[in-house]
Amino acid sequence: MSHSIELVQGLSRSSRISYIAAAVPPVPLPSHCSGQQTQSVAAEPRSRGGGARLATLFGNFPYLYGVMTRKERYNSIIGWFAQNQPVAQSELHYGNPYELLVAVILSAQCTDKRVNMVTPALFEAFPTPEALAAASFDDVYPYVKSVSYPNAKARHLIAMAQMLLADHGGEVPSDIDELMKLPGVGRKTANVIASIVYDKPVIAVDTHVFRVAHRLGLSDGSTPYAVEQDLERHIPMEQRPIAHHWLILHGRYTCTARNPKCTGCPLTQWCRDYPLINK
Ligand code: SF4
Repeated sequence: MSHSIELVQGLSRSSRISYIAAAVPPVPLPSHCSGQQTQSVAAEPRSRGGGARLATLFGNFPYLYGVMTRKERYNSIIGWFAQNQPVAQSELHYGNPYELLVAVILSAQCTDKRVNMVTPALFEAFPTPEALAAASFDDVYPYVKSVSYPNAKARHLIAMAQMLLADHGGEVPSDIDELMKLPGVGRKTANVIASIVYDKPVIAVDTHVFRVAHRLGLSDGSTPYAVEQDLERHIPMEQRPIAHHWLILHGRYTCTARNPKCTGCPLTQWCRDYPLINK
C-alpha cells in the first residue's frame, strides 16, 4: 500500500490517527532513538484525546501524531537543535545589510549557492545603494542573468536601491512593514533581514521551513504566514532568529523535498511523518 504524505497532511487529526493506525504496524524503533525517552512519552496518559489508548495503539511509535502533544514535540525538537547545533547562520555571502538585502532578493526561487556565485562581481560593480540606484537595467542584468527571474530581479534591485535612498537615507530599515514596501521584498525576505540584521524575534518561512514544519508536525498551516504564526507561538523569542536557520538547513541537507534522508536524521523519534515516509 502506498501512502501519500500530501494526502495525510490534509486530513483532520482524528482522520489522520485512523489512517496511520490502519496503515502502519508497530515496528522496532530506529537504533539511535532513546528507548527510555520514547517509552515515557508513550506511557504518559493524557486527559485529552485518549493518549493512553493511543500509546497502546501505536506501540513503538510514541512519536506519532496524537501521542505527543505539540508542545512536547516543539520542546524535543527545538531542544535537540539548541543542544546540538548552537551555531547556525545564513549561507549567503554578504558584508553589510545592503549586501544581504541584495542577496536575499536574488535568492527567491534560487539556490544560495548560485546567488553566491554572482554577488561578488555584483557587489564590486555596485558597492552601495547609491551606485545601484544610478544603474540602468542594462548595467545590472549581465551580473544577475544566471539567477532565476533575472529580468524582474534586475529591475527590483535598482528600484529597491532608489527607494532606500529616497525613503531611508540609504539605510536598510528594520521595520518589517517598511521592508515589505521595497521592490522585490516580500514577507519572507523582510523577516530574514529583520532577523539577521536586527535580531528581531521573527521566523522567515521559505519552502524549506514550510516543508520541514509540516513533516515534523510543528504546524499544519496552509500558508507560509500561518506556519510562521505557529512557529512564533511555540518558539521562545530568543530562539526565533536561530530557529529559522535550524529549519532551513535541516530542510536543505536532510529533510529534502524529494527523498528525505530519514536514515541518520536525528529527529526521527519526534517526527510526525517519519513512519509514513518510511513505510
Ligand atoms: S525523519 Fe525524515 S521526514 Fe522526519 S524530519 Fe527527519 S528527514 Fe524529515
